[in-house]
Amino acid sequence: MSDSTPVGCGCEIQQPQAVLAVAPDAYIAVDATGRIVAWNPAAQTTFGHDHAHACGRDLADLIIPDRYRAAHRAGLARLGAGEPARVLGQRLHLQALHADGHEFPIELTLTATEGSTGPVFHAFGHDVTTTWRISRFAEVEATVSRGLAEAASSHTAATRVVDALGVTMSWPVTELWLADDDRDVLLCSARHAAPGRRLGRFALDELEPGVGLAGRVYQQGRPLWIPDLAADTASLRSRAAARIGLHVAVGVPINTGARSIGALCVYGDRIEDPEDSLTTLLVGVAAQVGQYLERRRAEELTIELARTKDEFLALVTHELRNPLAVITSTASLLEEELDGLLDADQRQYVHTILRGAGRLSVLVDDLLDLARLESGHLAIDPAPSDLVAIVEHAVAAIAAQSAEKALTVTIDTPARLDLYADSSRLQQVADNLLSNAVKYTPAGGAITITAAADPDEAWITWTFTDTGIGIPPADRPHLFRRFYRASTALDRRIPGTGLGLVITRAIIERHGGTIGLANHNGPGTTFHIRVPTKPDVASNP
Ligand code: ADP
Repeated sequence: MSDSTPVGCGCEIQQPQAVLAVAPDAYIAVDATGRIVAWNPAAQTTFGHDHAHACGRDLADLIIPDRYRAAHRAGLARLGAGEPARVLGQRLHLQALHADGHEFPIELTLTATEGSTGPVFHAFGHDVTTTWRISRFAEVEATVSRGLAEAASSHTAATRVVDALGVTMSWPVTELWLADDDRDVLLCSARHAAPGRRLGRFALDELEPGVGLAGRVYQQGRPLWIPDLAADTASLRSRAAARIGLHVAVGVPINTGARSIGALCVYGDRIEDPEDSLTTLLVGVAAQVGQYLERRRAEELTIELARTKDEFLALVTHELRNPLAVITSTASLLEEELDGLLDADQRQYVHTILRGAGRLSVLVDDLLDLARLESGHLAIDPAPSDLVAIVEHAVAAIAAQSAEKALTVTIDTPARLDLYADSSRLQQVADNLLSNAVKYTPAGGAITITAAADPDEAWITWTFTDTGIGIPPADRPHLFRRFYRASTALDRRIPGTGLGLVITRAIIERHGGTIGLANHNGPGTTFHIRVPTKPDVASNP
């Protein structure tokens, strides 16, 4: 308003009530007891209560969050008693309560007039959520940069990011999802939930690509807004979010280079339209996370390469040199003493040489398979096969060794189990799991192999159980990593390379199946395999 048109001069502004009715700011007047005596339409929009509901009500009850009510009433009492107050005429920043229960920041100015029954306090204010958020953005970016610079692991980094967004921006739920390298799923690396917020069935830890906001963002590689979760009826997870009072969600992809590796998602508790500044903030944070993870991956790869090199050297030293030394020394003996040896001794020497050569050829085959696996060339050549024949063949091949250790080997299968698969590769799986069972089961133990088709004959479940030395829980997550050997095997100095299971898993997965360790009560180990009978076997790359 210009100086030439003072309020009340009697020309332009005749009707203050009409002006208040169209004012963009909320206008509220209260008497000295805190009772609302005026409430304009902008107040209705800002706080969600209509005029009829608000007028006559206690202001503190209606729009002041519970924890601030006592202080608010005490302040009003002091003003009513005529005490000098700094709050009059100042811009104040307060938290307010909306009719739908969410809290939001407001900026207001307070003035007082003298009414017929005592003082009347007039507040003009507006919702400053957007401004407040923007002022928090820089804080979030700084917290994230600091958090990532100091994070010693990807997990710590993810936790710091969701905490920075959740705490500083007051988002009720923030989640960071990353793709699992081995399986085609997204895992929730870190989640921040506001204190007291119960997540119930919304708190999933695994999502398929394309499913839920995180899955969609990851698959499409672009930011997505869901302005009203309850209206997103196609998504079960959006419905679960709406059930716990969440209303809006935003997700942005996390990229390293050109590849999407995850998603950063925030959930809010009121319906909102897409806001560019917020998406920009999240894209910026996601870029920082992407760069951090790329850096970490490079570091981990360097460590992994150094470790692999050490393990490879150790493997060559033990597993190659030992049988080679046995072969060389036995062959020399045979050559030197050939004439003086009895037939039986000669046979024993030749047997020793053959066993050493057998160990070497298994190792060479495994190393070749590993090399093919790493270069993506592990060949699978499917044809109609019978799994029971494969099992029986494996048991027969290892009969001498199991008899030597007095192991009981039981086969529990139907007469045939037809499937479309590469039988020589499945033979490799059976031979490897069975030779492990024999190797890691002390004399007198038992081995059981079962195989059965599901009622619809689409899948076969195949298990290998032994009563041997077992695999401690701490080793289980690493078991399918190349060169990894469990402490139970290392402690007993049982020879091995840690290559068989890596190859076994690759073969099963190339058939569209899965392999894992079953939880085991008591000693022993059970490997649990599921293979489809008519797999859509991936052609050789
Ligand atoms: P290797 O037996 O040559 O060491 P594998 O890749 O076949 O290599 O197995 C990896 C590790 O898993 C083994 O070193 C051993 O610690 C553990 N393991 C495999 N099968 C069994 C089993 N049946 N019982 C106990 N431990 C096992």
